[in-house]
Amino acid sequence: MTRTVSALLATSILAGSAFTATAQELNLYSSRHYETDERLYSDFTDATGIVINRIEGNADELIARMAAEGMNSPADVFLTVDTSRLQRAADAGLLQAVDSDVLEARVPANLQDDDNLWFGFSQRSRIIFYNPETVENPPMTYLDLADPAYEGMVCIRSSTNTYNQTLLAAIITHEGEEVATEWATGMVHNFARSPQGGDTDQLRGIVSGECDIAVSNSYYFARAVRRDVDGLSDHLDMVAWTFPDQAGNGAHMNLSGGGVAAHAPNRDAAVAFLEYLASDQAQVYFSAGNDEFPVVEGVPLAPSVAHLGEFIADDVALSEVAGNIPAAQAIFNQVGWP
Ligand code: FE
Repeated sequence: MTRTVSALLATSILAGSAFTATAQELNLYSSRHYETDERLYSDFTDATGIVINRIEGNADELIARMAAEGMNSPADVFLTVDTSRLQRAADAGLLQAVDSDVLEARVPANLQDDDNLWFGFSQRSRIIFYNPETVENPPMTYLDLADPAYEGMVCIRSSTNTYNQTLLAAIITHEGEEVATEWATGMVHNFARSPQGGDTDQLRGIVSGECDIAVSNSYYFARAVRRDVDGLSDHLDMVAWTFPDQAGNGAHMNLSGGGVAAHAPNRDAAVAFLEYLASDQAQVYFSAGNDEFPVVEGVPLAPSVAHLGEFIADDVALSEVAGNIPAAQAIFNQVGWP
């Protein structure tokens, strides 16, 4: 009994929550693929007594599973990376609206769904890396990457990658479909090699000399600063970077976030967990554990993340960007970006 009371107290202190349920279990469907997230979950359990059952898989599989389970789904919370996947779950009717003063106060408006079906908890910037030895005038904007001056120099992953889908969707949001199509056409022209591998492989391409310029999310580089990443950490001096669009819209931000499942059996615990993810304690951990940017203002950055320097982030409403993902997909197909 004492344990339950103190657990409830801890939750209220933790997130200012009005959480009062006694359900002590939470089923978390997560496609975040970072071993370091373990701490996030154990801290929540320590503070609340709520045990987290983790069901991990890739986002598409988890979305299909939730859809197949329907009203009987045990899923309480769906966590994933990239706005496109959050929106796909929302569009499929798999998430429910959450009315939380804590989340409204702590998660910036542009990083949550207009209907409160999903909320962002951490960000990464999708930026331009380059070899300072071979690139004298690096691209300063996303549109610059498609400039004929960089023909045969640019490495970026395939169009099946959701980070690229959301980046192109953001370009559509800012510049319109015509400019976005021109950009994608120019990008294909500038490829140093056929798109392959993950973001870290684009950075490794700079080290190997295959790529002069590479597009990658910031955390893959920051991770190589924090700990040893094969083929990268020993050669960090070969990699410079620019945060694009600093005189314009700001650097594109990729979001990781989640929402409460439509038929969550432990709804109160699910809301408490989302509120916990917006707490200072969890926000610090997104940065220290996985080299991401916290979404909550004023939360300190890990040294590996601060190392990247200060920059202006694009604050476009990601809910709006998500609406342009089908158009982005069509453009990728049209221009033959594999
Ligand atoms: Fe990633």
